[in-house]
Amino acid sequence: IKKERPNTLGFYDASVQSEWQKRRALEQDLRLALQHRELSLVYQPMFCMRSSLCSGFEALLRWNSPTHGPVAPDLFIGLAESIGLMEEVGTWVLREACAEAARWAVPLTVAVNVSPIQIQQGDLASVITETLNTTGLPANRLEIEVTESMLIRNFDRAVDTLQRIKALGVGISIDDFGTGYSSLATLRAFPFNKLKIDRSFVRDLAEESESLAIVNAVLGLGRGLRLPVVVEGVETERQADILRDCGADAIQGYLFGRPSPISAYSNITDPRVTS
Ligand code: C2E
Ligand code: CA
Ligand code: CA
Ligand code: CA
Repeated sequence: IKKERPNTLGFYDASVQSEWQKRRALEQDLRLALQHRELSLVYQPMFCMRSSLCSGFEALLRWNSPTHGPVAPDLFIGLAESIGLMEEVGTWVLREACAEAARWAVPLTVAVNVSPIQIQQGDLASVITETLNTTGLPANRLEIEVTESMLIRNFDRAVDTLQRIKALGVGISIDDFGTGYSSLATLRAFPFNKLKIDRSFVRDLAEESESLAIVNAVLGLGRGLRLPVVVEGVETERQADILRDCGADAIQGYLFGRPSPISAYSNITDPRVTS
């Protein structure tokens, strides 16, 4: 190959180089993003199927960089993890979300995504305790969302941390359920009290019988374990109808509300609007 296309290696090097440079530039700017107030939270509502009322919001992190524009969370969160920034960022997210929820007119829950780093390295139970104390948010209004893949690496530590968090009265949801490979074992080992079905199963719900079967099976599992099931990524009325018929407990998705600055939901949360 090298003989036929002598330049291939050179081109390859150049593109790897520029990818690497791009990444380095992102990393450098991410280190300053907190200080420069470039990080923010948007909120997406979840709705109780039975009452059709909003039951709470999920906080989702955004980075709007002056040089790179909006950077996708999946990208910059991975970066933050790899450069040792995630504990600091995760602590900021918790504090910001709890302070926000403490101001709401109604006692809705706020769900915060938590990175494996915060469980494996940090002392998440203490960070949460301190955050609840300083913001005045009652523990039962906070939920953390964890993905199953993160828990396997340091099993004992993860179990211990989550048990301490649960003992505080904070809810623990298993996120992206169905995408990992140890779902059932993890479910039994960890003190979850809510299950979120990954949105990849919802996408083809109306067209594909496999997805429907999986969603039904997870809902059955939830009923058996007495864990409410939230379905995320609901984009169409048709999907919502199917999920209602299947007995989903709560739904979340673009159909009912996009992740937005909390001011977009002032009709629900703002004391000045709702009182
Ligand atoms: P996730 O926790 O599974 O969050 C749900 C993602 O689905 C969000 O993407 C949300 O914007 C998107 N979504 C919600 N409804 C719909 C819908 O109807 N259709 C479609 N196509 N998408 C929908 P987002 O905001 O880009 O976040 C991506 C991931 O980044 C999150 O997945 C979560 O794993 C991570 N993440 C976001 N914020 C934080 C954070 O504060 N801390 C940590 N550790 N991770 C976070
Ligand atoms: Ca989540
Ligand atoms: Ca999810
Ligand atoms: Ca996800």
